Amino acid sequence: MELSGWGRYPVHGARCARPETRGDLQQALAERNGDSILAHAAGRSYGDAALNEDGRAVLTERLDRMLEFDPETGWLRVEAGVTLKEIIDIFVPRGWFPPVVPGTQYVTVGGAVGCNIHGKNHHQVGSFGDHVRRLEMLTASGDIVTCDRDNHPELFWATVGGMGLTGIILSLEVQLEPVAGPAIEMESIRVENLDEFFEVSAESGDFTHTVSWIDCVASGSNLGRGVFMRGRHASEEVEWSPGPMEKLAKTLKSAADGRLFESNWLLNRATMRIGNAAYFHKEPKGKTEQIVHYEPFFFPLDAIDHWNHIYGSRGFLQYQCVVPEREAIREILEEVTATSMASFLSVIKEFGPRTHTGLSFPEPGITLALDFPNYGEPLMELLDRLDAIVATAGGRVYLGKDARLDRQSFRKMYPEWEEWRDVRDEWDPDGVFQSSLGRRLGLVKGS
Ligand SMILES: Cc1cc2nc3c(=O)[nH]c(=O)nc-3n(C[C@H](O)[C@H](O)[C@H](O)COP(=O)(O)OP(=O)(O)OC[C@H]3O[C@@H](n4cnc5c(N)ncnc54)[C@H](O)[C@@H]3O)c2cc1C
Repeated sequence: MELSGWGRYPVHGARCARPETRGDLQQALAERNGDSILAHAAGRSYGDAALNEDGRAVLTERLDRMLEFDPETGWLRVEAGVTLKEIIDIFVPRGWFPPVVPGTQYVTVGGAVGCNIHGKNHHQVGSFGDHVRRLEMLTASGDIVTCDRDNHPELFWATVGGMGLTGIILSLEVQLEPVAGPAIEMESIRVENLDEFFEVSAESGDFTHTVSWIDCVASGSNLGRGVFMRGRHASEEVEWSPGPMEKLAKTLKSAADGRLFESNWLLNRATMRIGNAAYFHKEPKGKTEQIVHYEPFFFPLDAIDHWNHIYGSRGFLQYQCVVPEREAIREILEEVTATSMASFLSVIKEFGPRTHTGLSFPEPGITLALDFPNYGEPLMELLDRLDAIVATAGGRVYLGKDARLDRQSFRKMYPEWEEWRDVRDEWDPDGVFQSSLGRRLGLVKGS
């Protein structure tokens, strides 16, 4: 099969198995005929993290059983191919929500551990791995191993954020968070520039969830203008009826499919300038308070199926970095606005303390995510320049979104990579588990 991540770049071929049981999975490992192998889940990582060019891929979508739930404590044991949407659909009516969710609910729990995903609440609760207590894994030897903070802790920590390179997660235990219902108390605040973003972020301590959309075409005194969104799960069941955001989301969902708009020309600097300015100006000045459903708050992009096709057949790249200091964010934005390339959708957020080592991405500072149509070589050169700014500032690029970081920059950004690789090599001395990303960054045997 030809496989790609959400950015549809790159596209790599792999021989695929779609096991339904752990027996099938063990068989796929045993019969790989000397090829390397990797778990490919919902393919919502953007670049080549879930690809294994010319090797084997295990599609985990059928390993999707819910195994056990304790309604007293909220601990849930599920197979790795269960999606967050499946958990949300079943558990919100029972008063529970996943502890950390990304910008789409269509990711699996296996992928959430593989990339150790962060959400809008990172500054308060850390990342997904902080809420997982046990993993059951198929390791390179063919054995099934259970690991947690006491049993094989080194395997547990290397797998959380380990990009699928330590083995295949079969099942895991995650702690759900109690909620009163589907409602979110939300505030949105129009911010006129980057300084205002930092001011509002600093005074948002009462909110569990924060994120800001940012207009990445605006420059000069408007640099960093955007809409700051903050919210929390409503503390009691509130009367909730669909507002304009929900109605819009519903209409879009029933009418829109990104594949209808696939074009290499739709998104250019001119259309992005108009789109970004329109989004900014539609937001009233000051603060707006609303009660909204969790879907438009957490997953606004899920409203349009296949929205990734809007970027055209060449695909797109997301560049997500975190830097410890504000000045580097300004430098990055200035570097981008000085080019003829533009980011269609950009978000910025302040992370909380670091809770993981190894290849996990989040660290204290400011994270910025920029989506660029695949402009080819000029884009790659721009992103290399951004890497230099990020590495010099002591920051890093998110591997779950990456398709092109070079090995040297990676090693500067992730100084603990060698310790991580030692653990990996101990559990997989022959390099059975590999990915296109792992070989590109020198993370697996022989690369
Ligand atoms: C619209 C959108 C918004 C997003 N927002 C965020 C965000 O806010 N925060 C964030 O952190 N990420 C975000 N992401 C990225 C996404 O959450 C992660 O890339 C996530 O890992 C994707 O999960 P998946 O199930 O699609 O896994 P895949 O993309 O298929 O795989 C991701 C990695 O996990 C490994 N993996 C998957 N399953 C297993 C398994 N069973 N055992 C071992 N390894 C496994 C794979 O080998 C691969 O390395 C976003 C993505 C999209 C498309």
